[in-house]
Amino acid sequence: MDTPLTVYLTLVTASGSLNFLLGLYAYAKRHELVAARTLVAITILQGIYIFAFAFELSGDNLEVIKRWITVEYIGIAYTPVVGLLLVLQYTSRTPPRAALYLLFLIPTVTLLLVATNDWHHLFYKSVYFRPGAYTPLVDVQYSYWYIVHGAYTFSCLLVGIVLLLKQWRGTKRTYKGQLVALLGGQLIPIVTTFLYVIGKTPYGMDLIPFVLSLTTALYIWAMRSTGLMTISPIAKEHIVESMREGVIVLDLKDRLIDYNAAVRTMFPGQWQIAIGKPMAELWQDLIGLKGPLPGARPNGSEGMQEMKRPDARTGACHYYQVRYSAIRNRSGDTVGKLLMFIDITELKQLQEKLKVQAYYDGLTGIFNRTQFILRARGLLQRHRTRGMAASVVLFDIDCFKEVNDTYGHETGDRVIQHVVSVSRRFVTGDMLLARYGGEEFVLLLPEMELGDAAAYVEGLRASLAAESFQAPDGPLSVTASFGVAALSPDCESIEQLLRHADAALYEAKRAGRNKVSQWRQP
Ligand code: GH3
Ligand code: MG
Ligand code: MG
Repeated sequence: MDTPLTVYLTLVTASGSLNFLLGLYAYAKRHELVAARTLVAITILQGIYIFAFAFELSGDNLEVIKRWITVEYIGIAYTPVVGLLLVLQYTSRTPPRAALYLLFLIPTVTLLLVATNDWHHLFYKSVYFRPGAYTPLVDVQYSYWYIVHGAYTFSCLLVGIVLLLKQWRGTKRTYKGQLVALLGGQLIPIVTTFLYVIGKTPYGMDLIPFVLSLTTALYIWAMRSTGLMTISPIAKEHIVESMREGVIVLDLKDRLIDYNAAVRTMFPGQWQIAIGKPMAELWQDLIGLKGPLPGARPNGSEGMQEMKRPDARTGACHYYQVRYSAIRNRSGDTVGKLLMFIDITELKQLQEKLKVQAYYDGLTGIFNRTQFILRARGLLQRHRTRGMAASVVLFDIDCFKEVNDTYGHETGDRVIQHVVSVSRRFVTGDMLLARYGGEEFVLLLPEMELGDAAAYVEGLRASLAAESFQAPDGPLSVTASFGVAALSPDCESIEQLLRHADAALYEAKRAGRNKVSQWRQP
C-alpha cells in the first residue's frame, strides 16, 4: 500500500477508535447522563461507518468494496436521525412513539436499497475505481434514492440546528458551551459534505471520517468541561441536599433509599446505617412521630398529614407537616415514594397564640363575650331540644368607679382579677364563665331552674362579700350585684336571656347592690 493511503487509513482507524472510546465513556457514565443511550448509539453508528470506510479503502476488489459500502450505510443512514434524537432529548422534547418509528423509516429503506442495489440500481448506478488515482479510490455514480437519502439527512441536521438555535436565547450563559458543541456536531458534517461534493477536499478525499471524530471530540469536551447533560441531575441533587425541608426517598416496599441533610438535623440518629431498612421500623426509632407512616394506604399516592413529636428532653411538642407523593419514572410507573417533612412548630405556636387572643380575655384568661355567645348558643340549643332547664347570670362589680378613682386603674384591674378568681371556684362541668364587658361578667348555668340558679349564685355573692381584696392601704370589700334569668317557652335565645338577666341586674343595683335578683315577667 502507498504511504499516503497508509497515513490516511491510520488516521481513519484512530478516528474510529476515538468514537468507540467516547461510546465506552458514555456507557460508563450512563447513570449521570440524561441522553447517554443516544450518545452511545451515535458513537456505535459512527464507529461502524468509520471502520467500514477503512475496510472499503483497503479493499482492492469492487465486490468487496460494495459489501463494505453497505456496512458503511448502517452508520451513514441512521446517524443523522439519532443525532436529531439527541437534540430532541437535550431540548426536552419527546415526540410520540409512532413519530419515532417514522423517523427511522427512510434510513431503513436507504439501507435496504444499498444492500440490494445490484438488482435495481436505485441507489447508485455504478461503482468504479477512480481513473488515474494513485490509490485505489472508488467513485460512485448515484441514482434516484440517493437524492431522497441526501435530502433526508440534511433535513435531520437542519431541524436539529433550528431546534438548538431556538434554545439559544433561553439558555443561561454557562450552558451555551453545550449548545455550541451540539451545534458543531450538527453543522460540521454538513459543511464537510458540501466541500466534498464541490470537490474542495484535499485529493478529492472524503473527510467525513475525521470530521466525525471531531464531532466526537466536541462531545467529549462538552461532557467533560461543561458537563453536557450532567449538570441538571447534579443541580437537582444539590437542591434536595440544601433544602430546609427534610426529604426521604423510599422504594416500593417502603425501604429507605435516600435522605437529605435536613432530615438528619430534624431527627438526629443513626441515619448512615438506616439505608435499606424498612421505614416502619425507622419511623419509631429515628423519626419518632406519633401515628402511622403517611401514605401507607395502597391508593395513597399523594397527600399531606400533620404530625407531632414530643421532645424527649424538654417535653415540648414539635409539629411537622408530612407530605408524601409517588415517584414515577419517565414511563409513568410508580417506582417509589417521597416523604417531605416541614417543621411547622413555629406556625403552630403562632396559631395557638392567635387562638388564645381570639377566644380569651387578656386580663382574666376567661372567655370573651364573642366566644361566650357562640358557645352558649350551642349549649342552649341542646338544652332546649332535650327540654332541659338552663340559666344565665349577669353580674357587675359594685361601685367600681370608686376603686379606680381611689387606687388607680392598675388596682382596678387587680380587683377585676380577684372577682374572676373567686368566681372560677364556682364554675364546674359545662358551666361557662366569661368577661361580658369592663367589670361585668356572665355565667351560664346548665340544667338549673331559675330558683336553683339564684341560690347557687347567692353562694358566689356571699363568697365575694366575705373575701376582701388586699388593697394598698388594707383590705377592701368588693361586692357585686347579680341578675338571673332562665330559659322559658317565651325566652329561648341567648340574646333574650341576656336582656332579661340585665334587667334583673338593674333591679339588684336598684335594690341597694350586693344582691341577687331574678327576672320575673312584668
Ligand atoms: P355600679 O355599682 O352601678 O356598677 O357602679 P360602677 O362604679 O361600677 O359603675 P359602672 O359599672 O358604670 O362602672 C364601670 C367602670 O369600670 C367604668 C370604667 O372606667 C371601669 N372599667 C371598665 N373596664 C375596666 C378595666 O378593664 N379596668 C379598670 N381598671 N377599669 C375598668
Ligand atoms: Mg358596669
Ligand atoms: Mg359596676
